[in-house]
Amino acid sequence: SSGTDEIDQMLQEVAAAAETIEQEFYRLMRLENYRKEFIGDISHELKTPIFAIQGFVETLLDGALEDENVNRVFLEKAMKNVNRLTILTNDLMEIAKLETGELKSHIRPFYIADCVQEVQDTLQYRAAEEQLAFSVQTDEPDCRVMGDRNQLRQVMVNLVENAIKYNRPGGKVTLRVQRSPDHAKKVKVSVEDTGIGIAPEHLERVTERFFRVDKSRSRDKGGTGLGLSIVKHILESHGSSLQAQSVYGQGSVFSFYLKKA
Ligand code: ADP
Repeated sequence: SSGTDEIDQMLQEVAAAAETIEQEFYRLMRLENYRKEFIGDISHELKTPIFAIQGFVETLLDGALEDENVNRVFLEKAMKNVNRLTILTNDLMEIAKLETGELKSHIRPFYIADCVQEVQDTLQYRAAEEQLAFSVQTDEPDCRVMGDRNQLRQVMVNLVENAIKYNRPGGKVTLRVQRSPDHAKKVKVSVEDTGIGIAPEHLERVTERFFRVDKSRSRDKGGTGLGLSIVKHILESHGSSLQAQSVYGQGSVFSFYLKKA
């Protein structure tokens, strides 16, 4: 009868509402845990450059300021750490927005070759400074892909920067856009280096926030330990994922697929 139907319907609505509340509860719990962990990570990462700046400034105030031979060196070292803080802050803002889903990808068709060209223009000077041969190869010069062009440029920049940072003098870096062997509707983008490589136990952790195989090498090269987590998040929001292969002592290949437009 209609009375029990109404009660049934009400019960269903209550059950649905309870489920929504439960999901929202778990979502907030995850966010809260994320927030706690993130704040812990941030304070840890900020300490190193802040303590360094404090040390240099204190030494200057304690008398080094009078010594012309050292004051400039100390100021430059302090400045280097200020720059590091700036990069770190920018990366932190970016990762926070990506991880909480605040930063959306604007997916549109664009020419992948143009984007690759921009990456080359941005980084060829840096590669040359490190005595590395940086080359770009593309099978599909006229191909358009679907994606957020700025975000995907950043993905490629981060991967090529790593290929430069963790390389050796005289080494190679190759950025490739290839036809996908298995999918006619996709292209494969890869960055290959002849650098130091990554041991298997580290390879599976490289996209974790702040994970670095060698902290001092990463810091020396201006790394923040966030580059690959940013890459991972951007690719996920494109329905793609980062693949990493590496032979310790020989080099690495990072690759991902993009949908053709
Ligand atoms: P970082 O700012 O330290 O470079 P990333 O998130 O970009 O941070 O990379 C995390 C770590 O993974 C690096 O510190 C480095 O140890 C390792 N790594 C990344 N790319 C490469 C590469 N091409 N060759 C060797 N090691 C790499």
